[in-house]
Amino acid sequence: MTPEKLISIDRDHLIHPVSSWRDQEQFGPRILHSGHGTWLKDIHGKELLDGFSGLWCVNVGYGCKSVVEAATEQMARLPYATGYFGYASEPAITLAGRLAARAPGNLNRIFFSQGGSDAVDSALRFIRFYQHAKGTPERRHVIGLARGYHGSTYTGAGLTALAAFHRDADVPLSWQHHIPSPYAYRHPGDNNDAAVIAASVAALKAKVAELGPDKVAAFFCEPVQGSGGVIVPPKGWLSAMREACRELGILFVADEVITGFGRTGPLFACERENVVPDMMTVAKGLTSGYAPMGAVFLSEDIYTTIRDNTPPGVAVGHGMTYSAHPVSAAIGLAVLDLYEQGVLANGVKAGAHLASRLNTLADHALVGDVRISGMLAGIELVTDKKAKTKPDASLKIASKLARIGYDKGVLFRAFGDDIIGLAPPLCCSVEEIDILCDRLTAVLDTVADDANVRAAL
Ligand code: PMP
Repeated sequence: MTPEKLISIDRDHLIHPVSSWRDQEQFGPRILHSGHGTWLKDIHGKELLDGFSGLWCVNVGYGCKSVVEAATEQMARLPYATGYFGYASEPAITLAGRLAARAPGNLNRIFFSQGGSDAVDSALRFIRFYQHAKGTPERRHVIGLARGYHGSTYTGAGLTALAAFHRDADVPLSWQHHIPSPYAYRHPGDNNDAAVIAASVAALKAKVAELGPDKVAAFFCEPVQGSGGVIVPPKGWLSAMREACRELGILFVADEVITGFGRTGPLFACERENVVPDMMTVAKGLTSGYAPMGAVFLSEDIYTTIRDNTPPGVAVGHGMTYSAHPVSAAIGLAVLDLYEQGVLANGVKAGAHLASRLNTLADHALVGDVRISGMLAGIELVTDKKAKTKPDASLKIASKLARIGYDKGVLFRAFGDDIIGLAPPLCCSVEEIDILCDRLTAVLDTVADDANVRAAL
């Protein structure tokens, strides 16, 4: 089909996720055609360096032969097996075993979902089951962070704290609450690490006191906040929040949908601070985007408490047709091999180079803050560095940067009007990181040179 025909059908029929429907109809899609390693080609043959791993997921890069072969073999042999009624497939069992062996602490029990949103939704369901099983059903409130993102189901959108996901949706739900995020750059008053950590701990304790000490079930957080603008908390924050949850007697849930599978260095970001959550959600890097799959890791205690409270022969009523899908699981196994065979180590090396290159951008006229954690980075744009003035929304600087980036052959992500994000594939070479940073600098220079932007600086 010709590009023109595809664009026309897209405008008329395809609803894009988290997109402006009006813009979609007006401007049409950017159609990607193929990928190899860190590189993508669009339908017109334009080469693009993917600085965002698709949607922070294609960690092993595009076109990995071993992954394609594992999927093909599984699809030919057994494309589907339900997990209901005691059935299972070999790859799902093997993947659960390998993940449990690599998971922090006693997060030994794994439920496979179809992606991150339903992993979060499943975690919330399991938390309810657990509180009922423990005889504390009044513990129903769940606390998340401002700027947090936890998916787009009803419960996930409510736990998310981004305006677009709440608009006209009657969320957050009555049991969902938020405390300020550990956003050092815009932290009021003293913003050193200790002050930011102390403020978060105090906010959590205050929120639990306000809701009732025996009314709160859990605290959810991303170890690095992704869709809220790549907010990297200070070192020690994660372990302090984990400890606070222990003290408060509430569950600590780490949403590692973005940070999992090497994005910040180790396989799971919790490992950076030796944190063992009570539950953990993952997706994205689990299959590196080659097929949909997510997972919830349950601690042994949560699993056995729910099990022991369910009479023999009675189902724990939660699951989906595609839970533990065998093709996704076969892909997950092949991807895990690649992580273990060098992709994780390469990500650490490339991440160090990315940090050294991006830190030099801090002097750029448009850059207020550079935040980096492994192969995850956020750049916050300002028009006055000292006053930390956000660019006027009418300048649409971040989306302008992303658009010019496409023209210059580099993909990255805009968050609102003032933050851009990078999450290159972990397989990136040092030379590709250089190309990414050179192109990004050129894009920043072009936008800073725009007459309207120059006038605002
Ligand atoms: N949690 C986090 C932290 C995420 O970043 C995302 C997706 N960006 C989700 C949950 C939802 O995942 P999915 O889009 O696969 O449903």
